[in-house]
Amino acid sequence: MAEIKKLPSHLIDKIAAGEVVENPASVVKELLENSLDAGATSLDLTIEKGGTRLISLTDNGSGIAPDQVRQAFARHATSKISQEDDLRTIASYGFRGEALPAIASVSIVEMTTATAGAAEGTRIIIEGGDEVLFEPTSPRAGTTLAIKQLFYNTPARRKFLKSETSENRKVVAIYSKYAVCSYGSSLKLKSNGKEIINYPADNDLAGRLQRLWGGNIGSRLIEVEGNPMEGLRIYGMVTHPGINRGNRNQIYLMVNGRPVYDVSLMHAIRSGYGNTIDSGYFPLAAIFIELDKTAVDVNVHPAKTEVRFANERYLYSQIRKLIEAAVQVPALFSVNSVKSHQRPTPGKINKIPPRDRPQSAVGSGKYHDDKIVIRNGQNNHHHNGVESNNKFEEIPPEAEEQFDLGGERFWQLYNTFVMGFREGKIWMIDQHTAHERVLYEAALNNLYERPGTSQRLLFDLSFELDTQEMIIFEKHLPLFERLGFEIEPFGSNAVIIRGVPGYFESSSVEKLFRNLVNGFADSLSTGEDPMMALAASVACHAAIKSGETLSQEQMQGLFNRLFDCQEPYQCPHGRPTVVTISREDLEKIFKRR
Ligand code: ADP
Ligand code: MG
Repeated sequence: MAEIKKLPSHLIDKIAAGEVVENPASVVKELLENSLDAGATSLDLTIEKGGTRLISLTDNGSGIAPDQVRQAFARHATSKISQEDDLRTIASYGFRGEALPAIASVSIVEMTTATAGAAEGTRIIIEGGDEVLFEPTSPRAGTTLAIKQLFYNTPARRKFLKSETSENRKVVAIYSKYAVCSYGSSLKLKSNGKEIINYPADNDLAGRLQRLWGGNIGSRLIEVEGNPMEGLRIYGMVTHPGINRGNRNQIYLMVNGRPVYDVSLMHAIRSGYGNTIDSGYFPLAAIFIELDKTAVDVNVHPAKTEVRFANERYLYSQIRKLIEAAVQVPALFSVNSVKSHQRPTPGKINKIPPRDRPQSAVGSGKYHDDKIVIRNGQNNHHHNGVESNNKFEEIPPEAEEQFDLGGERFWQLYNTFVMGFREGKIWMIDQHTAHERVLYEAALNNLYERPGTSQRLLFDLSFELDTQEMIIFEKHLPLFERLGFEIEPFGSNAVIIRGVPGYFESSSVEKLFRNLVNGFADSLSTGEDPMMALAASVACHAAIKSGETLSQEQMQGLFNRLFDCQEPYQCPHGRPTVVTISREDLEKIFKRR
């Protein structure tokens, strides 16, 4: 057996580097944290070749006194804690004293630093952990730390680096996190000589988020603020449900000022949105959690990106509740928005002209087809033999007479909402959510009751799915057929589509179908019933989007079909489909009453 020896300190540093220094982005993170810990309010970062050639950060922080400079690179040397008790109440980003020696062991480091008012500053160069230069320089308060040739002496590590673009992207992602948590600081990022980020100090979080997410986002930000118990404050900004992304990358979580990655708390934020965002999509958010320092352990991960909470479940539920309260208020009209929990009384429903309402959730009554597209002035729905009944035409003449609006019956507003009159009231529907509701009920009917008809495509269409999609598709093939797809697996990972449900826009079948399968897979993964999940996904993806211009006939078709639904007042995700404004409402608004 080989002799048991203590490892030389060089080797220990390299091993530590394995934990702390994974790629240029992780170096950037350590440098930013050090600068912020030093009280810097200006952080100027330059990278070259994705950070592999150069990472240089200049700050205006406290600087380091000449006699302390070498200490900064000594293993487990830190100015931030000194005794065991301090570990329980860590208020700085760093405290392990590992980063600088680890970084210096796998690169060429040059530091220039001076404290405010000092007679001289210090320049030190360390190559692969060995000091090669130490000299006084002219003082400039603050610190510049340049990391050159990262991993030059650990070729194996260097090989693991991804492309320059990919390393760049990681650096920008990290930098953005710190840009959020220190929104009062000015930050600059240059890559290969080109300025990528230039954020002057912002007065508030909203200002910083606007820079980060784009200038127009301001009006779509919702403030979150709560103080659920002594020693716990949760605050920040989230986006309106209409603004979302297909990933969690824009969810920023700060715990006592430290950016952390916590899937469970991200989930709490997402779940606060409930069904106002489609499954598989996430809001943009910056949430700060300030809690008693003893209620969170930051020392569970060498890079300190994960933390452990004394009471994670409580925190989860509080965040979820706060977000729910902040975002799930009717964002459209304050007037008579029909929300799920305040469904209209039967009396109110009866104001809508009577019609055949299917009795069960899956419908035993008649469903009309759902395609709103009208061509050549001809109604293009396939009714499975059921007569179209234009409920809108049945409005009692006296009600109609109250309005003489120049012949038009429907108005499309902002290519998003459709306004019509019925029963002496203004009705506004959201074209997307309304159509979603229509398609959802039609799809449920196809799945549970009567299979949908199929429209043959002009040419068979074949394309590949990824493995995950293919597994899900094959498992649920019969459901797709009931919806009206003429489809079959082809080879190990492709499908051939010969026919689609009538409401599927035939010009983009592949895209629609992929989105459909994806949305379906997402809902399945949350344990939803396959039929409901498929119906919701098909509705979501095949429904007309906002931005599409509708003809009079299309708008009429949408109104009719919506009010033929069992639950006309909300889309499958719970968003409202209709609001009404009555004469009384207007009179109240204009203070005539
Ligand atoms: P830690 O941050 O855990 O203390 P580091 O190895 O990252 O350990 O840094 C070691 C020490 O160097 C810090 O405790 C700090 O005193 C000093 N230091 C590092 N970077 C800076 C900086 N930009 N400005 C001032 N002091 C710094
Ligand atoms: Mg540090």
